[in-house]
Amino acid sequence: MSAEIISGKEIRKEILAEVKKEVAGIREKSGKVPGLVTILVGESPASVSYVTLKVRTALECGFYEVQDNQPADISEQQLLKIIDNYNRDPAIHGILVQLPLPEHIDEKKVLTAIDPDKDVDGFHPVNVGRLMIGDDVRFPPCTPAGIQEMIVRSGTETSGAEVVVVGRSNIVGKPIAMMMAQKGAGANATVTIVHTRTRDLAAHCRRADILIVAAGVPGLVQPQWIKPGATVIDVGVNRVGISETTGKAILRGDVDFDAVREIAGKITPVPGGVGPMTIAMLMKNTVNSAKRALGIG
Ligand code: NAP
Repeated sequence: MSAEIISGKEIRKEILAEVKKEVAGIREKSGKVPGLVTILVGESPASVSYVTLKVRTALECGFYEVQDNQPADISEQQLLKIIDNYNRDPAIHGILVQLPLPEHIDEKKVLTAIDPDKDVDGFHPVNVGRLMIGDDVRFPPCTPAGIQEMIVRSGTETSGAEVVVVGRSNIVGKPIAMMMAQKGAGANATVTIVHTRTRDLAAHCRRADILIVAAGVPGLVQPQWIKPGATVIDVGVNRVGISETTGKAILRGDVDFDAVREIAGKITPVPGGVGPMTIAMLMKNTVNSAKRALGIG
């Protein structure tokens, strides 16, 4: 039987509706709204398109949104000064610096300059540490947070489940593995991380009740790697060509979708799976930041 599709588009709608409700509540209680600044350095087409989507979504949610575009040749010092100003601005509850930055700017220095209490991307070492400790987690990084939300909202049991994560990057693999292993609702799983040095990748994947794949290799995961009935979350977004009809990139995930869906119990598509969730979780982090700053429980 074909697996149930976990639609990121649908869950995203639910989350954004919840965010809008929260914004109305914040406005009613404080007369204020969540404030998000998106800082874009340079004009790389991919970054421009990501930032445009973030800005559009923030405005739809009723946020105060500042789109701060800076030239590619801005100095590191100038950029740090700009961040410092937003750190001090009480109307701003979330600061997002679109990555990657030009080569002459030290990304680590920039991310560390953001006030950890406004770090809605969750990349500051203080927030990474909080995530690791599992206490006082303020900003779970957006893609892993979206993955966990999809697992939970699809009704997949996580407690005691075998979770296998393919990939160990700092933005997806490591944080989602940590989140699923924490004590608490939507977690309590037994987690294995696999990567390019893993012996017998397929054998590990076959044990998974929940398989999370973030490798960046189109079609890597094959149907014979899947435990029947497993929940499969495909994080991969790989451009494999250009559509002759639309002129747009053809996207493919890390999972051989058509074959795997015949074995899995639940599966996320690409596109329309994890992708749409990331910005929704950014909005959720910003709302939570505003509530904390304004003392709204
Ligand atoms: P990354 O930094 O390149 O990390 C990829 C990880 O996968 C590495 O740990 C690598 O192992 C492992 N890996 C690669 N090939 C493998 C193989 N054949 N077998 C086993 N492990 C393998 O990538 P990332 O930033 O985590 O992103 C992963 C994918 O998710 C990409 O397609 C990216 O576009 C997508 N993504 C989507 C979203 C979204 O939808 N919102 C957000 C972020 C990323 P080693 O460590 O041993 O090299």
